[in-house]
Amino acid sequence: MIRWVLAWVLSASMAFAQVAVDPDRSAVRDGWWTLEVTLGLAEIVPYRVFTLDDPRRLVLDFEGASFDAIDPDAIRSGDRAAAVRIGPLRPGWSRMVVDLAEPLTVSEAGMRATEDGATLQVVLERASAEEFAAASGAPPDPGWEVVTGFDSAVASAIARSEDYVVVIDPGHGGIDPGATQGGVKEADLTLVMAAELANALNSLPRVRAVLTRETDSFVPLTTRLTLARQVGADVFLSLHADALDDDAVQGATVYTLSQDGGDAAAQRMVERHERGDLLAGVDLETAEDRVATALMDLARAQTGPESRRIATALVSSLRNAGVRMNNSPLREGQFAVLTAAEFPSLLIEIGFLSNVEDRAVLATVAGRARIIAAIADTVSLLAR
Ligand SMILES: [Zn+2]
Repeated sequence: MIRWVLAWVLSASMAFAQVAVDPDRSAVRDGWWTLEVTLGLAEIVPYRVFTLDDPRRLVLDFEGASFDAIDPDAIRSGDRAAAVRIGPLRPGWSRMVVDLAEPLTVSEAGMRATEDGATLQVVLERASAEEFAAASGAPPDPGWEVVTGFDSAVASAIARSEDYVVVIDPGHGGIDPGATQGGVKEADLTLVMAAELANALNSLPRVRAVLTRETDSFVPLTTRLTLARQVGADVFLSLHADALDDDAVQGATVYTLSQDGGDAAAQRMVERHERGDLLAGVDLETAEDRVATALMDLARAQTGPESRRIATALVSSLRNAGVRMNNSPLREGQFAVLTAAEFPSLLIEIGFLSNVEDRAVLATVAGRARIIAAIADTVSLLAR
């Protein structure tokens, strides 16, 4: 049985070329007893294939392939593939995730040169739930890990410095776009805002801002904390702008790690955010262990009071700056990114993309500037 397939093709030109995937030669369709994924590419690229359980999904990663011309819904047919998602994984890499409606294991996978360039063919066969579980898991090859770290010399220089280190975490990114409403994508908005906030913070004396991502790339939640630890974060600020079904919900909200499960609204928000990792094909097994147990208690005990103190100060700064606030602006939730025991952490919903007025404010530099000024105010007090 094939557990996963790794294929490396060494080519000097590969690093910069973007190899187009051709929609006319690409399909995800049912065979008689199988599910078949066929992708036509302009040339052979490095790729890997594996399946993950709970929920069952097929993950395909490609280096240097451009899926710009591919509409995931248009290439999918039949019943065995419930959904197809495609997006950037990290610079140079893309990921395709196929949700499987039933247990199907990889029986055949290969990319071969053709007259048109290259074709990837993956065939999955029906299997029992047990067989699927046994065959699933992310490949161990470290060269393919999603985890990227900062350059260790640079990171430890930041950690050793006297600076107050603010780690800004632009929510979502890459194959996890976050909320999308009215043409605004949460992952893009948080990235723009993070860059603006970093500028503002870096102009403060003895403050150093570091971003967990600087491009439209996917960074797993646990990696975001690893990056913060690497640079010796003094505070961790995760930026979000979500959408809710209720478009009346509006205004900025500051979350800290909850003592218990948090209220129902907070729980829904947490689920949305853990799902981002799941949808992106990250194996959450270790993340679940972590969230469930001791570390969370440790985080609450060590940094909980400090996080709540900072959150309270930030909410009054935001109010003073005239920022549109949520009717309950100080909230708690069990967000994975708030579970570090080494530094206080806040998750800031800068507003809701589902609310027309919020969206209008967040879409402008001037609108964001008020929020940024309020955060900078709070940080300048902390850094003293
Ligand atoms: Zn979000």
